[in-house]
Amino acid sequence: MILQADPGRSYFVMKEKIDSAVKRVLESAWYVLGKENSAFEKSFAQYVGSNYCLGVANGTDAVEIILRALNIGNGDMVATVGNTAVATVAAIERTGAQVRFADIEPHKFTMSASSLNDLLAKEKNIKAVIVVHLFGCPAEMKEICEAAAKYNIPVIEDCAQAHGAEYNGRKCGTIGIAGSFSFYPTKNLGAFGDGGAVVTDNRELFEKMTALRQYGWKKRYISEFTGINSRLDEMQAAVLSVKLPYLDENNQKRRSIAAQYRSALKDLSDIELPVEPETAFHVYHQFVLRVKNNRREALADCLKKNDILTAIHYPLAIPRQPGYQEIPLTVSLTETFETNQEILSLPMYPELTEREIRTITDAIRDFL
Ligand SMILES: *Cc1c(COP(=O)(O)O)cnc(C)c1O
Repeated sequence: MILQADPGRSYFVMKEKIDSAVKRVLESAWYVLGKENSAFEKSFAQYVGSNYCLGVANGTDAVEIILRALNIGNGDMVATVGNTAVATVAAIERTGAQVRFADIEPHKFTMSASSLNDLLAKEKNIKAVIVVHLFGCPAEMKEICEAAAKYNIPVIEDCAQAHGAEYNGRKCGTIGIAGSFSFYPTKNLGAFGDGGAVVTDNRELFEKMTALRQYGWKKRYISEFTGINSRLDEMQAAVLSVKLPYLDENNQKRRSIAAQYRSALKDLSDIELPVEPETAFHVYHQFVLRVKNNRREALADCLKKNDILTAIHYPLAIPRQPGYQEIPLTVSLTETFETNQEILSLPMYPELTEREIRTITDAIRDFL
């Protein structure tokens, strides 16, 4: 069986180092916000090239903490895209703010700056923009930041699928005011449990977020404001410190798998391959095809019969999900909805072998 993601394999690749990191934490008798968390924060900040990093409990909290630190809440609106993981939208709503959707670019999966322009012209209450570097592909940050700057609105980067991705040579997460990361096990950098982080260059924001992460404390037991409990535990931090040095190598493997997919599938007429913009260092959290002429379900079924599991990220655009239908649509989301009917994610994880890739591309070619 060739899976969509196989986070367990990475344990066996790095078994000795991970076992010894976990043992170190267990024996230290210090399990939450200690040396391991601080060490990981330092190395992750260094890795992305930001001044500060804050370990938090998961990627959803990371988004929420950034928004709250920017004083966004009740009565405010936040713009994002409708094809993201529901977590982005859930985080916005947790602050009390309302969500407004901008469309995505044609033939891409990331926010359209011109749609954002239209949205910002219509909705005067939007106080922040959350860009999602979906599937590991950086959004067109220059145009998006220019649109937001006209209204003096900060841009937040949801980098939950873009660890190590670059836009014009800069790591995702360092271009807007702050970036959020998830270390959910299947992400490009995954823990063996939940985890997340926020990065920023802004000291004031960092200090506010540090307090928000733990009940609004600046001094222990004294809440300066209301905060939450969102901490990265020592076990996950220790595991992440083991795995971080492998991230670039694993991203290269993902890129090489993507290149093999491309060359084996490039001449097929019923599929559109994912675009890799010139500005982007794409890290292929997912390799997402668009399957034309209503052949997606049949293709997925055929692959499944060959023991190849595909996935759809995500089967319903957020504004079409039962829990989110009350969000008014201010601008047209034509591209978001059209793409939604055609997307199909092929298996993508660093440990995928050349033989497995060949099996997958042969099965696709046979079917189409
Ligand atoms: C995974 C993900 C999140 C949420 O991360 P969790 O750690 O699961 O809370 C947020 N945004 C995007 C785009 C994601 O893919």
